Amino acid sequence: MTPRLEVRNLVRRYDQTAVVDDVSLTIAPGHVTCLLGPSGCGKSTTLRMIAGVDTQDSGEIYLDGDLISDATASVPPERRSIGLIFQDFALFPHLSVGENVGFGLRKRGAEQRKRIEELLDKVGLLRFVDEYPHQLSGGEQQRVALARALAPRPKVMLMDEPFSGLDNRLRDGIRDETLAILKDEGTSVLLVTHEPEEAMRMADEIALMRRGKIVQRGAPYNVYNAPVDLAAVAFFSDINVMKSKVHGSLADTPFGQFLAPGLPEGAAVDIVFRPQHLHIDFDRNGRGPNPTQVAGTPARGIVERARFMGSESLVEFRTDLGAILKATVPNVFLPKPGTPLWLTVRRDRCFVFPAEGD
Ligand code: ADP
Repeated sequence: MTPRLEVRNLVRRYDQTAVVDDVSLTIAPGHVTCLLGPSGCGKSTTLRMIAGVDTQDSGEIYLDGDLISDATASVPPERRSIGLIFQDFALFPHLSVGENVGFGLRKRGAEQRKRIEELLDKVGLLRFVDEYPHQLSGGEQQRVALARALAPRPKVMLMDEPFSGLDNRLRDGIRDETLAILKDEGTSVLLVTHEPEEAMRMADEIALMRRGKIVQRGAPYNVYNAPVDLAAVAFFSDINVMKSKVHGSLADTPFGQFLAPGLPEGAAVDIVFRPQHLHIDFDRNGRGPNPTQVAGTPARGIVERARFMGSESLVEFRTDLGAILKATVPNVFLPKPGTPLWLTVRRDRCFVFPAEGD
């Protein structure tokens, strides 16, 4: 199937530095792709080139297989059939809600009215058609901005941190509603965000970006559970790192040996896992380990500190080799510093990476 949007080898330099450095991505019709990465990694610059308000130094952009932009020729933004929603969604204050939504429509008269009403109905704001933006709440204004951007039936909607200006309590609801409306209209979406939770909630596919490059692409589940490197794990959550060295394709840790396939003898490795995958073995505590009963080797940890976090507790341990490991434990569990406990780790949730910068 021809992708709705395809970006090939996009490069944009400022002062000789490539802030977008060979970015390629595709979005299938009706799909939501999230460009996810830390602030300054080049997400907005990528979006601006796709919108046509900035021009790449090299690379091409295709819409439904048609070239709309390369380094020499470019379809102007207003003829690209690409909609835009920014965090600062600025409605026109002197136009009514209905006039705002109708602003980008070429149709006039009854046809225009019909599309305006259809969209305002979809976002649940038809009763405000003759009101003015200042009479609406922030969340309602956001929905009007969405209706306005959708009115000309763009093939692709570009959204740059569209929810970050909203109150926390409203945000989840508005995200879900927005997604439902975009899916209903069949619009393909490229959403820029620096928040992993937002990307996982919204995306069919995540494109993880770092220093101008896309380092990993995939469904949220795959990007979260099969990260390409330590930074990719760390971007989504707090992490534990155990340092080790490879001997005979194996790396020793307090939890036994881990496979380190393909790495040379003596190579330094990081064994990385998330705090929710370090478990306190309450059954074994006091009795000592019996490795035949469980997969993997249990390790002794001495509580360094324990903190109450609401629905869970965060407990930090010092292991025999001196590493500090964090465990998130459901409910309230606040052992005293110095308490020895047995720990196990979900081996299938551990990642072995060549150590960086050692
Ligand atoms: P993000 O959206 O991921 O936060 P941006 O695409 O806004 O990142 O910016 C990427 C990098 O490019 C940043 O280091 C930023 O300072 C730089 N940059 C963006 N626009 C310009 C510009 N017009 N001139 C010079 N540098 C820019």
